[in-house]
Amino acid sequence: MFPAGLRLALVATLVPAGLLAVDSAPRVAPTRPGLAAANQGPAAVGKPSSLPVTRLMGLEYFVLRDVTALLGFKSTWVESTRRLTLLDATNRIELTGGSREISVNGLRVFLGNPILQKGGALFISKTDLERCLTPLLRPALLGPLLGRPRIIVLDPGHGGQDNGMENKPLKLKEKALTLDVAQRLKKLLEARGYQVVLTRTDDRQLGPDKQTDFLTRADITNRAKADLLVSIHFNSLYPDTKTSGTEVYTFTRAGQRSDRAWGAIEKDDAETTPSEVNRFDPWSALLAHCMHREVIGTLKTFDRGQKTMHSIVLRGLKCPAVLVESVFLSNDSEARRAATPAYLQQIAEGLASGIGAYADLLDRISPKPTAHPAVSPSNSKS
Ligand SMILES: [Zn+2]
Repeated sequence: MFPAGLRLALVATLVPAGLLAVDSAPRVAPTRPGLAAANQGPAAVGKPSSLPVTRLMGLEYFVLRDVTALLGFKSTWVESTRRLTLLDATNRIELTGGSREISVNGLRVFLGNPILQKGGALFISKTDLERCLTPLLRPALLGPLLGRPRIIVLDPGHGGQDNGMENKPLKLKEKALTLDVAQRLKKLLEARGYQVVLTRTDDRQLGPDKQTDFLTRADITNRAKADLLVSIHFNSLYPDTKTSGTEVYTFTRAGQRSDRAWGAIEKDDAETTPSEVNRFDPWSALLAHCMHREVIGTLKTFDRGQKTMHSIVLRGLKCPAVLVESVFLSNDSEARRAATPAYLQQIAEGLASGIGAYADLLDRISPKPTAHPAVSPSNSKS
């Protein structure tokens, strides 16, 4: 579990982001000669920026059917003017007026603003379209494209005085489980050729207080020049012992509330100034979607959704980042499983599959260097 209450006003050095403009200096994908350019992304689809914008509830929205046609999807009403299904050869997306929750190929994804109904049409917010839905459905439209990740930072949540969540009857401490999973995942990723850095390798807090600890983790990640970060956590909801399942978080998109802030008695926590990591929103959404699908597919846990939070660890990162709440230590059945090395290995394998799926996807959609007869790999110094 990750406390989201702390806030830190980091200086935002961002210029207002254009449509899906992510990084002015995209990383270069290492060449992988064995991989064919099998998928260069969809042909002949336009960018959503060319659509007319409608102002609703003080925000910019697009008509959903216009968007889907532009993205190359066929849309069908499941329930007239309220529930719409988008289909192409490989994807099925369901959206419902009045709801933030959408289904992307059977996975629950929570948008930052509800889909709105007006005049017989459904509308999606510009931020959700550009920084969540389009990245999941048409990642090839993102630009400039990031290359295949090479340096991965794993962040085992908590440590030292901060035990994280606990299951006292089973003597489980979140800080020990996160480190165990991170070490297993490191081995799996190194065997696949990634360079892996852990934010901590033993039982310690990375600073005199929690805020310093969080910032140190972000600093380690940025200094490592990470291509992505995965922060590993276990969930808890005592005294509720029934709730179970997996959640995958990204940092909340600028101008939107975190998922927690949509609770009935919670205050709006939207931030108008983008944070450093918001530059990577589309990529974080895509990474989270891959992690979400693979972890739930591996563990067969209940899907609690892809969500967002204002995490201090994620806020200042200069790379795409996700935080995974794998299972609930407050749920007896999940905690008993988490007490076994075999299950921790399964969690690590699910996370490794998610990172692998994201990396493969970036590989497929990255422009391939054109071969030049004068420069062959044999005479290149690299
Ligand atoms: Zn935690």
